[in-house]
Amino acid sequence: MRTDVRVAIIGAGFAGIGAALRLREAGIDSVAVLERSDRVGGTWRDNRYPGVACDIPAHLYCFSFLPNSGFTRRFAAGDEIQEYLERAADPIRDVLQLGTEVVDVSWDEWGARWSVATDRGTVTAAAVVLACGRLTEPRLPEVPGKFGGPVVHSARWDEALDLTGRRVALVGSGASAVQLLPHVADQASSVVVLQRSAPWVLPRGDRAHDEVQRRRWAERPELLARLRAELFEEAEAGHAARVGDTVARAELCARAQRHRRDQVEDERLRRLLTPDHEIGCKRVLFSDDYYPALSRPNVRLAAAALAGYERDAVLDGNGSRHEVDTVLLATGFEAARQPYARLVRGRGGVSLERRWADGMQAYGSIAVHGFPNLFVLDGPNASLGHNSAVIMIEAQINHVVGALGEVGPGGLIEVDVEAERRYAEEMARRSVQTVWTSGCSSWYLDPGSGRQVMLWPGTATEYVERFGHFDAAAYALVAHT
Ligand SMILES: Cc1cc2nc3c(=O)[nH]c(=O)nc-3n(C[C@H](O)[C@H](O)[C@H](O)COP(=O)(O)OP(=O)(O)OC[C@H]3O[C@@H](n4cnc5c(N)ncnc54)[C@H](O)[C@@H]3O)c2cc1C
Repeated sequence: MRTDVRVAIIGAGFAGIGAALRLREAGIDSVAVLERSDRVGGTWRDNRYPGVACDIPAHLYCFSFLPNSGFTRRFAAGDEIQEYLERAADPIRDVLQLGTEVVDVSWDEWGARWSVATDRGTVTAAAVVLACGRLTEPRLPEVPGKFGGPVVHSARWDEALDLTGRRVALVGSGASAVQLLPHVADQASSVVVLQRSAPWVLPRGDRAHDEVQRRRWAERPELLARLRAELFEEAEAGHAARVGDTVARAELCARAQRHRRDQVEDERLRRLLTPDHEIGCKRVLFSDDYYPALSRPNVRLAAAALAGYERDAVLDGNGSRHEVDTVLLATGFEAARQPYARLVRGRGGVSLERRWADGMQAYGSIAVHGFPNLFVLDGPNASLGHNSAVIMIEAQINHVVGALGEVGPGGLIEVDVEAERRYAEEMARRSVQTVWTSGCSSWYLDPGSGRQVMLWPGTATEYVERFGHFDAAAYALVAHT
């Protein structure tokens, strides 16, 4: 294990792998990537449930500098994305420290270095890149009672779980539930879906990329680059409906309503599946087989949240009891309050958790005052409701690599407190005009302050232009040594 490096990267998902690759390209080799799991991949290593796939086209949901002609579907299955990330990580294996959980990250004022404590020893580093993810820690419902059978969260799937002939409760109706249900309904004797809030669902339009197509892309990478550019523009067009454009929002809404009408014959079921919030307020889902699965004779929809467990049943918020022998939780993640925040202590021993007591914030969604030489990837206001996370992650990586290049091996850099404050104000001001603050409860909002802390309110293009490079004006640079 490396004990002293220039840059410690925590996490080996898209963000951590991408950062290590880019640092190497920039000639910064003194790096350690600390990953608690025994494999890279993050989201795609952990989410192994049947049906898991991306919902942004795969050719946009990958690094621009590492296209993959081999994706076999428009929306690649999770295992293909995982394989892609394993391959992407090959050039940085020498700096990867798998099976290494970071338990404390403290700024040493005297030494002007970070001390990164892990369960396998301590690494000191001039700079730290937090690439710990945002949909990493499963959120488990806090309800009374104890269930006697298996209770499995979608992000902790048990490969040995056999649902054949089982009576299953599927808790949740978000992105994972929508992908999971058709597969569960194929195997289980009965499924009851506990839906707290009906989601907006749009047609998915998945299709296979046949071998001829894949070979053409492999032989002519410019075709793949053109496809990526087209997919990017298509995705960007979806931004307007999330901000002030009421016509675009009405069109999106009409498409989703048509989809529901076309796919759900039963009027009562259609009513239960009618969302009570504006489209886009929560994550919009894409599926062509969720509604048909709900219409199957072995599937029932209970329009109520999970309210409790009994040994052989789940109770819902409407007072109904459903006898089942397996519970599947598609209940999402701790998103707005990140567990890594409590591990990180900056100047004066102040933790990131304390700094973020009113909700996460960071200048450019990257840097926090009081935490010198530390950068957050895929953190506060860095997600998108309409485009690929990898676009944002790459832009942030370019910013960070630029910063580290500027500061040199022995220098210090810290974001200006005013720059951070102005950015946070901008996020708040612009969020008011978005659909995300239109009144629904969602994981985009901080559970304490209600601030919108997850999504970047602009287009991906705007973010890349503003923050996809180092921006010295917002930082104080201390001389190189
Ligand atoms: C089912 C699912 C589908 C998704 N589909 C899409 C999609 O289609 N399009 C899209 O744009 N986004 C999608 N996302 C969002 C997705 O999370 C991001 O796109 C992306 O994978 C995040 O990468 P990351 O590297 O930031 O985080 P992660 O992939 O979560 O990686 C973080 C890594 O940090 C490690 N880690 C955390 N804490 C520690 C610690 N203390 N010590 C050591 N290691 C630590 C974790 O083990 C993990 O490997 C999806 C998310 C889920 C859950």
